[in-house]
Amino acid sequence: MKYAQHISELVGSTPLVQLTSVTRGLSATVLAKVEYMNPGGSVKDRIALKMIEAAEASGELRPGGTIVEPTSGNTGVGLALVAQRKGYDCVFVCPDKVSQDKVDVLRAYGARVVVTPTAVAPDSPESYYSVSDRLVREIPGAWKPNQYANPNGPASHYESTGPEIWDDTDGRVTHFVTGVGTGGTITGTGRYLHDVSADREGGPVHVVGADPAGSVYSGGDGRPYLVEGVGEDFWPSAFDPSVPDEIIAVSDADSFAMTRRLAREEGMLVGGSCGMAVVAALRLAERLEAEDPAAAAQAVIVVLLPDGGRGYMSKIFSDAWMRSYGFLDDDEAVTASDVLR
Ligand code: PMP
Repeated sequence: MKYAQHISELVGSTPLVQLTSVTRGLSATVLAKVEYMNPGGSVKDRIALKMIEAAEASGELRPGGTIVEPTSGNTGVGLALVAQRKGYDCVFVCPDKVSQDKVDVLRAYGARVVVTPTAVAPDSPESYYSVSDRLVREIPGAWKPNQYANPNGPASHYESTGPEIWDDTDGRVTHFVTGVGTGGTITGTGRYLHDVSADREGGPVHVVGADPAGSVYSGGDGRPYLVEGVGEDFWPSAFDPSVPDEIIAVSDADSFAMTRRLAREEGMLVGGSCGMAVVAALRLAERLEAEDPAAAAQAVIVVLLPDGGRGYMSKIFSDAWMRSYGFLDDDEAVTASDVLR
């Protein structure tokens, strides 16, 4: 019989899938690394597993302990499913811009969730950073993974995501594109791909960060944007700014339009940061095409898609929500007579 003894054993080893419709007219090969295939539905399962195992090994997390983390949802799911197996409690702190769907998911996994206001400074006592710090101080046996500063986040990507991409492309990956939130994915995966390709004929892998316009990574001042899970208003230490060779800023409107196309044209129901990363990958492919068509035809661009789209049905996949922000102007409502015409 072939079976896993627990769902958390299935973290990682996600597939690469070629994008064939949104890439029409481009000669580069664009491969999506589909992280919603992880058991918790996102790339964050990887860091959750590694951070918990490292904290157990160091003695920071002991039997009966409580995991307390400020998380917009995906890290929480990963932590919750690993914690269940190992018998820890979870308390998560989420900003109120996070969709209710995501909060409900965390509660379904048995976690307790505290919701805090988004419209306060990071150093306010009400901010999700401050509230989680207070919970860590006051709950006995509490441990805060702190994904923004925990080196085991990037390390998990150095050990798993990077080697998977290198192996699955037989070392032919030329470009890697991913969104930047805590920076863990780009730092660990990008660093591995740089290291392993450093002496390669044809040059090392070119690592590109995709960032919501307004975030600090692309030179913004932290002004609000609606894409969830990426961009920051401060510089987390999980992010090593020397890793990305380039950062491409993408607007909310472009990110959400592409997110909807990925569902409709590629059969991938994914989150908004996936649309954002794909827009950046396609801009890169267009630029390669314009600069050097022969090189573009040889390019293998891997773009990482962090999570699935089920948590965004009342936002990105709601025509009313999209229209309320001016992201959709055509009326897509369909009547029976349109279909029968
Ligand atoms: N997209 C989503 C939906 C996320 O939850 C995250 C994690 N914050 C990211 C992208 C970015 O990943 P990282 O934190 O590794 O930069």
